[in-house]
Amino acid sequence: LKDINKTYPGAVPLHVLKGINLEIDKGELVSIMGASGSGKSTLLNILGILDTYDTGEYHLDGVLIKNLSENRAAELRNRMIGFVFQSFNLIGYKNALENVALPLFYQGVSRKKRNAMAMEQLERMGLADRAHHLPGELSGGQKQRVAIARSLITNPSIILADEPTGALDSKTSKDVMQVFRDLNSEGMTIVIVTHDPGVGQATGRVIRIADGIIQPS
Ligand code: ATP
Ligand code: MG
Repeated sequence: LKDINKTYPGAVPLHVLKGINLEIDKGELVSIMGASGSGKSTLLNILGILDTYDTGEYHLDGVLIKNLSENRAAELRNRMIGFVFQSFNLIGYKNALENVALPLFYQGVSRKKRNAMAMEQLERMGLADRAHHLPGELSGGQKQRVAIARSLITNPSIILADEPTGALDSKTSKDVMQVFRDLNSEGMTIVIVTHDPGVGQATGRVIRIADGIIQPS
């Protein structure tokens, strides 16, 4: 990210990101920390091509992410980025396997193939035996591991997680962080927004943001 600025328009426009310069290398595990309202989610949404910025430049894997059509943005997002959220965002009436397989459904992958691929990811998360259970029948940590499995199914370049342990107790948070660390040691690039200093400590680098500005480390 080079000198990224973002203002939310409105009666009182809000200048949320004020010249963000940030380089995250392939294979890094980093956390973004900062007070509520400092711009963490806005930054993560820009990284994830879920939101646009006003000025500056963002390159993802060598691709300039700027002035994209919605189709192109969606194509890059679906191909390159895996998302994990605080509230898991699983579909309640679909079982774990179906939730994990869903991104492949949108890519037109056959049911047989997507179920096999989803089962592989669930096995990787130690959840093969929960594959046919609904989210409501899973623990918080299990739900988040299902969400991580879903984020991996399209083989993304980077995983972006916004408060992935925010709804979990401290023991379960540690387990979920161990999953991220294992993925990172296999080469995955991961960015985690967090309020939890323990989560920050479990990452290789903590990026601190205050009032839309990255603090010198
Ligand atoms: P938290 O830790 O509470 O999640 P955050 O650091 O993620 O906070 P952001 O969600 O990035 O903060 O929000 C930064 C500022 O921008 C806040 O003042 C917020 O109210 C404002 N904001 C966020 N989204 C929008 C939007 N879509 N339109 C207008 N203002 C917004
Ligand atoms: Mg936020």
